Amino acid sequence: MSDVTVTPAAPAPSSSRLQVRPELEGAQPIVASDGRPLLQFKSPRVSQPPVHLADLTLAERQDRLKELGHPGFRAKQLSTHYFSHYTTDPAVMSDLPKAGREELVRAMFPPLLTEVKRLTTDNGDTIKFLWRLFDGALVESVLMRYPGRVTLCVSSQAGCGMNCPFCATGQAGLTRNMSTAEIVDQVVAANRALAEDALGGLRTDGGHDADRVTNIVFMGMGEPLANYKRVMGALHRFIDDSPEGLGMSARNITVSTVGLVPAIDKLAAEAIPVTFALSLHAPDDELRDELIPVNTRWKVDEALDAAYNYYRTTGRRVSIEYALIKDMNDHAWRADLLAKKLNQRGRGWVHVNPIPLNPTPGSIWTASEKSVSTEFINRLRAAGIPTTLRDTRGKEIDGACGQLAAGE
Ligand code: SAH
Repeated sequence: MSDVTVTPAAPAPSSSRLQVRPELEGAQPIVASDGRPLLQFKSPRVSQPPVHLADLTLAERQDRLKELGHPGFRAKQLSTHYFSHYTTDPAVMSDLPKAGREELVRAMFPPLLTEVKRLTTDNGDTIKFLWRLFDGALVESVLMRYPGRVTLCVSSQAGCGMNCPFCATGQAGLTRNMSTAEIVDQVVAANRALAEDALGGLRTDGGHDADRVTNIVFMGMGEPLANYKRVMGALHRFIDDSPEGLGMSARNITVSTVGLVPAIDKLAAEAIPVTFALSLHAPDDELRDELIPVNTRWKVDEALDAAYNYYRTTGRRVSIEYALIKDMNDHAWRADLLAKKLNQRGRGWVHVNPIPLNPTPGSIWTASEKSVSTEFINRLRAAGIPTTLRDTRGKEIDGACGQLAAGE
């Protein structure tokens, strides 16, 4: 799967349904030589950053240290500095001998993310970070405080090869896969920023507020399941007990995908109970072929079967993501069809997260009218499907879903 570039079949001619066709004004859609949307599974740039402690398991860290002429037990010390204190500064590592400390730290913690820009919302509860990677590629992550939890939206690829026309990241194409440590370092950097009180906004009502990232969503740039091995490595670093990893709860980590069916099956078989989200956006193949080009490869029913299998295998209720796009996918009959397809597979296995479309440059698509999204949600609920409207946190700093384009 990772070595092919496929071009989906041309969309079927539009029928009589009322539907707004996309008009991309500024943005250039990426098309193959035959004019159809291009899917990129293989990263054009193959170079990866130098190996970092967070790329390795504890045993691998010990081996690497021995190769470098250090005792294996340094692995635990260095891991504690990084995963518990979020530091890579040799000056504070007083438990390491002074002689050779700098070299050791440089070898195990090559700098991966350079902060280019930090945008904070007016009320201070959301920060978007722009990072430059070792080869100049740019990625973003978004940190959000909610009562009692802190969520980080991480990127898994520089750019994205899935080419969804309503998503800003999709319009830029894929630059390369991110390494495990590049993914992990976004969380460690966010924890460091939190320790420096970057988010502020601590509750004054006496309630407890999280002082580190408690939830991670793979909803930043990239298609996580197209970078499977490195994302799996990052999941292990997130959930492994401290000091081997961050000691987070798997259920607080959400992996979101356009629907790469073989990779969904593989993820289910890993028996790591992360939360699984499928970006569906349409219950019918005719429209989904257009909104999610990979649908020409794996159809709505195949993606839903894989999501249902994820629930059966892990016991974790799955999320269906649905960006409500005015006159495009927000019709009442589509809500009914979605409910029917979900209920056909079982009850209690799924919930739906509609989100009003966030604007992206160059696209005339807009969010559904309030009354239309309310009707859409009510129809799902009436059919017994738990449905919650997602918030569009970070919109004013272009940090909301689908707006991450990593421009300077
Ligand atoms: N590639 C993965 C993860 C990144 S996108 C995926 O597609 O699931 C994270 C979520 O934001 C997905 O559900 C995606 O469909 C949604 N999204 C993309 N563009 C959006 C937009 N303009 N408005 C609202 N949601 C959007």
